[in-house]
Amino acid sequence: MANESIIVQSSELAAPLPDAATPAPGDLTDELLQTSVWTDEAVARAQIPVVDVPVVTVGGGIGSFVLVDLLRIAGVPTSQIRTLTNLDVPWQTYEYLTRVSQIPRPERLRSDATGMPDNIWGFPSYALREAAAERTIAPLFNVLVEPIFTDYWTPRAGTAFTSMEREAKRIGFSETIQKGQVRMVRRRYGGGYYTILTPPPGATPTRRIAYRSRFVHVAVGYPGLRFLPDLQQYRQRYNDYTTVVNAYEPHEQVYDELRRRPCVVLVRGGGIVASRVLQRLMEDRWNHGAPTTVVHLFRTYVHGTEDRGGVFWRRKGGNGFSYQGFNWPKGAWGGQLKESFERLEGDERAALYRKLGGTHTPRRKLWQQQMARARQEGWYHTLHGTVDEVLRNDRRQVVTRVKLANGAPHEIVADFVIDATGLEGDLRDHRILADLLDHSGAGRNPMGRLDVDRTFEIRGTRSEPGGRMYASGSMTLGGYYAGVDSFLGLQYAALQIVDDLAAQGFCPRIGAGRSLAQWWRWVRNRPV
Ligand SMILES: Cc1cc2nc3c(=O)[nH]c(=O)nc-3n(C[C@H](O)[C@H](O)[C@H](O)COP(=O)(O)OP(=O)(O)OC[C@H]3O[C@@H](n4cnc5c(N)ncnc54)[C@H](O)[C@@H]3O)c2cc1C
Repeated sequence: MANESIIVQSSELAAPLPDAATPAPGDLTDELLQTSVWTDEAVARAQIPVVDVPVVTVGGGIGSFVLVDLLRIAGVPTSQIRTLTNLDVPWQTYEYLTRVSQIPRPERLRSDATGMPDNIWGFPSYALREAAAERTIAPLFNVLVEPIFTDYWTPRAGTAFTSMEREAKRIGFSETIQKGQVRMVRRRYGGGYYTILTPPPGATPTRRIAYRSRFVHVAVGYPGLRFLPDLQQYRQRYNDYTTVVNAYEPHEQVYDELRRRPCVVLVRGGGIVASRVLQRLMEDRWNHGAPTTVVHLFRTYVHGTEDRGGVFWRRKGGNGFSYQGFNWPKGAWGGQLKESFERLEGDERAALYRKLGGTHTPRRKLWQQQMARARQEGWYHTLHGTVDEVLRNDRRQVVTRVKLANGAPHEIVADFVIDATGLEGDLRDHRILADLLDHSGAGRNPMGRLDVDRTFEIRGTRSEPGGRMYASGSMTLGGYYAGVDSFLGLQYAALQIVDDLAAQGFCPRIGAGRSLAQWWRWVRNRPV
């Protein structure tokens, strides 16, 4: 199960440095570890083999994939790009996270018909493709009348994976891949960067390889899996990793057990993952006879439409949930809100993020109907409060001590707890990002994430002459573009980066003629 190790790897990334006192030949030396800007001589002294390549992208997930896609469409050959990654395919982590959080391939994602990591042109959309493949106009009708008369149309997870697979083959993505764990990126005297890769054991004679490049792109996804401290304490104290689970880790055993005996499940969180988990619990009860009682704990309970700062800043809500179709209002990807984010600096930008942020979930008709039925049948209960402590009783049940919103103490006794509260850790949870903060001049934006400018260059990391380091993905949230952790946002970042590379003369700019010609090749599935 290669996929299952991904979460473990991200926590490994923050592990202590290896013993630098007696490095083996070809390993990091104390001199390198302590020096922020490396000379070619210091790398040679460490006997680390050096590979020269103009562009390195670190991560190899969807962020790296869309950048390589753009570079290939711009005419950059695969020999000039190296993707350093621990993944076999770019959608591997994404598929793992969606599957365990109850979005297997046949289920629908959150983003809309034009969020297509395999297609930078946005046409034909996923809705059009599904309509053609399944010979039905239903998806087209849906996108025509959404969101007034129908829910937003969203593609099936499997559609995103198979379409990326096709595009990966078309652009020769696998030719750019070098497998391994990236340890750090450091600036180089004389311009550019060194990216240190630890290849899989036995794959190379030395422990490390140094990639010397003019450009580096960092797209390592979520810095780490965030566990609520009270649940983490419980798990460590009782060494119990099966009854208290995070929705982003494999937890099928919980649903299996729920079908076998009457149980109480406590669900924590009010976002889309909580909605998915509730859907699964409800359907297992109705379709498979699981005699489950669900207690749903909200830290913030939304009673109705929220006023988030004036008549134009309202968000629908009810029964605890806050409702919004996508991560951000649509205008944040390409409209007034995009322009506002681009204009604002510092605290003002952070204030706009806070105004638009918070936990929310789409208001889908199916979920509304299911929740109404569950409430009516009397086995779904909501509570509003904050957790003080999580303990275990002598029947091996999980006892959650809560302070309710009215101040009263309350105990929830449950057989299982599913934490659907969040995913992201701090920048420092990821070894590469922590190293960038410590050694390469990178800083934090007003939201505490990696500070990038409008071209997604990481501020403060320039390595003259000519060296530029870029980043895309969730670690850059808080910058001049809000939708960074989405297919469309990753593509937007890639476009800015490739335009910036073109401005420096590295590759041709993708103008109208090239774009049209390349789109036609895409349509016919011809190599770039
Ligand atoms: C459950 C879920 C549902 C989502 N649904 C949608 C949706 O419907 N629509 C949408 O637009 N967006 C969605 N997103 C957001 C986003 O599009 C995805 O998370 C996407 O995978 C982000 O791409 P990425 O490249 O930033 O990260 P990833 O795809 O995770 O790729 C980064 C990878 O880098 C690798 N890596 C990290 N450190 C190292 C290292 N040191 N060395 C080598 N490799 C390393 C890891 O394997 C990591 O997975 C969703 C996210 C989640 C979690």
